[in-house]
Amino acid sequence: MSIGAGGVHKLVIIGSGPAGYTAAIYAARASLEPVVYIGVPKQTPSIVLPGGQLMITTEVENYPGFPEGITGPELMERFRKQAERFGTTIVAQDIVRCEFGVRPFVLHTSNGDRVRAHSVIIATGAVADWLGLENEQRLARTGGGVSACAVCDGALPAFRNQPLAVVGGGDTAMEEATYLTKFASTVYVIHRRDALRASKIMQDRYMSKPNAKMLWNKVVVDVLGDEKLEAVTLEDTKTKQRSRLDVKGLFIAIGHTPLTHFLAGSGIELNDKGYILLRNRHSNTNIEGVFAAGDVADAEYRQAVTAAGMGCQAALDAERWLGAKGH
Ligand code: NAP
Repeated sequence: MSIGAGGVHKLVIIGSGPAGYTAAIYAARASLEPVVYIGVPKQTPSIVLPGGQLMITTEVENYPGFPEGITGPELMERFRKQAERFGTTIVAQDIVRCEFGVRPFVLHTSNGDRVRAHSVIIATGAVADWLGLENEQRLARTGGGVSACAVCDGALPAFRNQPLAVVGGGDTAMEEATYLTKFASTVYVIHRRDALRASKIMQDRYMSKPNAKMLWNKVVVDVLGDEKLEAVTLEDTKTKQRSRLDVKGLFIAIGHTPLTHFLAGSGIELNDKGYILLRNRHSNTNIEGVFAAGDVADAEYRQAVTAAGMGCQAALDAERWLGAKGH
């Protein structure tokens, strides 16, 4: 690994989804010799893999430049190769703690190493929350009809004119359910209470669709189907009565958790949900020289293409900042 003057990297990038690798491509082409800590695979219970959320996505049909579609893992392999082509160093370790109160910054790796860097881009992403049912996880991993992103997967042929279900009662659930009404025969929203958390306008948009159906006070207690989803078992939260609902797609929309736990004590400002707060429409965090990009700083759009765009911004911001500081 090439290390800058005094054993200090110019730029360390933490995270290896579209944001991290795009930042690496731009930074490497700008001769910043970036080092990307891509992380190690884990299940927490959500699956976290080097490459990010696209590693658990089958077909990606909305990433520009791939008119025939591409699988998530193949897309991320291309991102990685492009970053490596320009001289990015890739390290298969996690960053577990950051000291941003000293300069150069000190980062601690999962192997116990200390790494020093003049600037850092945080691009660790966010993971979708899951119900935690065994069959849910299995069918999500194998592309069997369970997904945490309707915008990513909802338009696939397998879901056309089929009954589909969305779990959750927030804006994401309403947005995903409304989107699915374009393709599905019926879209059921399964919510554990008798009132939605979602904003009124988002509720109304969904409820106005002729094929929208709300299932109140219900929780999914099992997911049925060997290779492909066939049905879910529902339990009424009041009567405890169980019922079967035949669906070909199940979309979990119960929130996301940003991967920011390793920033505890670092001084980086987070919002009340744990997402990194950015300043002035740039990628700057509250600490000079530390930038953030992608889902870890974006609870709203959460798309591969928006994350990649943010990664580009962060690399340009880091390059300008390093230049101004004479690194
Ligand atoms: P959220 O607001 O936290 O809502 C999560 C929903 O999932 C809640 O209804 C919650 O039920 C339910 N839930 C949580 N855990 C569950 C479980 N284990 N089993 C069953 N249900 C469960 O999350 P979100 O909808 O992803 O929204 C996140 C943020 O992004 C919000 O601030 C939202 O306004 C924003 N957003 C905005 C837009 C937009 O304006 N276009 C679109 C998407 C998201 P309870 O209600 O019972 O707690």
